[in-house]
Amino acid sequence: MAIKQLLKRTSGWLYLNSPVGRHQLHGAGVILMLHRVLANDRAADLPHRNELCVGPKAFEHLLAWLKKNFDCVPLMDLLQPGVISTGQPKIALTFDDGWRDNALNAFPLLKKNQMPASIFLSTDFIGSRQRFWWESLGETLWRSHGEKARTHLIECLRQIGRPLPVLLDDLDVQRRSLALLHFLHSLKNLPSGELDRLTDQCPEESLPQALDWHQVRAMEASGLIRFGPHGASHAILTDLDDQRLDEELSRSRNALLNGCNRPLPVYCYPNGNHDARVREHVADHDFPFALGTDIGIYRGLSDPLALPRIGISHRTARNPELLSWRIYRGARP
Ligand SMILES: [Zn+2]
Repeated sequence: MAIKQLLKRTSGWLYLNSPVGRHQLHGAGVILMLHRVLANDRAADLPHRNELCVGPKAFEHLLAWLKKNFDCVPLMDLLQPGVISTGQPKIALTFDDGWRDNALNAFPLLKKNQMPASIFLSTDFIGSRQRFWWESLGETLWRSHGEKARTHLIECLRQIGRPLPVLLDDLDVQRRSLALLHFLHSLKNLPSGELDRLTDQCPEESLPQALDWHQVRAMEASGLIRFGPHGASHAILTDLDDQRLDEELSRSRNALLNGCNRPLPVYCYPNGNHDARVREHVADHDFPFALGTDIGIYRGLSDPLALPRIGISHRTARNPELLSWRIYRGARP
């Protein structure tokens, strides 16, 4: 595994620094996808958090590496043609969901490094105590809220035919966390009402999970951060009938228009799920651009309503050379 990683890091570095790689990336853009920046690196390192969370030290390390290797620009400078290029490939940071830690942990580091970013909000959550199911269920099962809460949730899961795998009692922390990650993935196919009901069985945290509008406006006023919609309820858009789809798109669009000065003309699909019908409805709601989760590089020729991104995990942020490998993979025709 270590050798494989070393090979990836080396090939990625060679690619970014070779004339061939530089030529391929000339005029191209890379849109990075992040979710959360936690308060400490050790917490972000566990497998069940690693995918969506980055620790503050790893995040700063990533920012320094990006500034050295890329022209770090606001998302719209990457998407709108005609902007003068420095010759370096462009990179833009995006954050999904609208987590409170974006204001508490990510923003101070973005400001310190003068790094622009775009945050895509699931607008029903903003300024409310509504919770993201995977965070509430995951952390309750991880015992972050105590044994009693965990036992209660396990019983609720058992009653709906989703018993906890034995591996979740493993003594090894890494193995236990990995088992939790797999278990959370397996719950994704439950009906959303069921997931909401399970979330209600989890204890409330002291702080809301999501940003509030005051935080949104304060970040926007810095001139460094812009905001766009990522659904209203974070429902998977491809699962909704036409009427519910339009409601979801209108509600999130209106919330951004009310809550921000200059919302982005870019939609961000929850979970990255979209199809021709969803793209058509998004375009009808005045969004010329939309972000998915397919891995790839932006070249101006891609479908503007299915823009590819590259996800950043804690592990990638800690070893950004792994990112150049992923860019290399994404840039290959
Ligand atoms: Zn999301």
